[in-house]
Amino acid sequence: MKAAQISKAGGDFEIVEREIPTPGAGHVRIKVLACGVCHSDVVTKEGIWPGIQYPRVPGHEVAGIIDEVGPEVSAWKKGQRVGVGWHGGQDNTCPECRRGDFRNCRNLKISGISYDGGYQQYKLAPVEALAAITEGLSDVEAAPLLCAGITTYNSLRHSGAMPGDLVAVQGIGGLGHLGIQFANRFGYKTVAIGHGTETGVLARKLGAHVYIDSAAANAAEELQKLGGAKVILATAPSSKAMSELIKGLGPNGKLMVVGAGPGPIEVAPIQLILGSKSIQGWASGTAADSEDTLRFAELSGVRPVIETYPLEKAAEAYARMMSGKAEFRVVLSM
Ligand SMILES: [Zn+2]
Ligand SMILES: [Zn+2]
Repeated sequence: MKAAQISKAGGDFEIVEREIPTPGAGHVRIKVLACGVCHSDVVTKEGIWPGIQYPRVPGHEVAGIIDEVGPEVSAWKKGQRVGVGWHGGQDNTCPECRRGDFRNCRNLKISGISYDGGYQQYKLAPVEALAAITEGLSDVEAAPLLCAGITTYNSLRHSGAMPGDLVAVQGIGGLGHLGIQFANRFGYKTVAIGHGTETGVLARKLGAHVYIDSAAANAAEELQKLGGAKVILATAPSSKAMSELIKGLGPNGKLMVVGAGPGPIEVAPIQLILGSKSIQGWASGTAADSEDTLRFAELSGVRPVIETYPLEKAAEAYARMMSGKAEFRVVLSM
């Protein structure tokens, strides 16, 4: 089989021939049909995550078919369509797991970091990582929903915002274009915050009721004119932009951080104290949350906008994603 691997931290993608792996206990083998290229793959490519063993195949937005089942697997069968997202397995023994908070497992395994991911024709995965893919979604549609999709869906549904509340989505890219769609389908008054007038046309098409062009207006002031945001889903990796947006929160408002920019978010204590405001980060979700995401997307018509590349062009696909010019998610199609 073919795999696109990174053989050392900071190394380039290499297309190599590998033996098709055999699943061990509690694992299945997936014939990969699509894998999203996520900005977080940078941690594997550049060796930012501690303890990565190379060579490593990146990829945590995997969609495919179970093609072999290992010993001690009862709930999954050959031929089933499945996906693997960021949550690649938990230890079931840490304090968080013992409380059922698997998402925050202290020894979380991540596909493409802890073990080989989806930039290859076949991959192994533990059963805790498997999400069933609903019939109405194609493989290339399902793949980005397993990281960009679940991150925006799961953070918004746990944000405390209720139908009718003012919810802003900052950044209209890989995460944001899904965040706008989910916010609209959840019944929020959805505000998109982007750069330039052209982006506004697109944001409205995705479901934004209001568009704020941050190049032409102060986004926080515009949000205050609308009553202040209950939630601002911050997706664009700019800590400076996030800091400035805190002034756009209404009473009990929350800045929900899902975009990982470098540098600190700055806030004066009084900004949080007056109006009981908060800043919260959110990471992905479990395989069960992935299934919720896929089911909701199928039901409500939320779909990622994608550009596809063949596996052999993994390097080109990755470069396209890193350029920030992709509209909006890059997906490898096998
Ligand atoms: Zn990701
Ligand atoms: Zn754990």
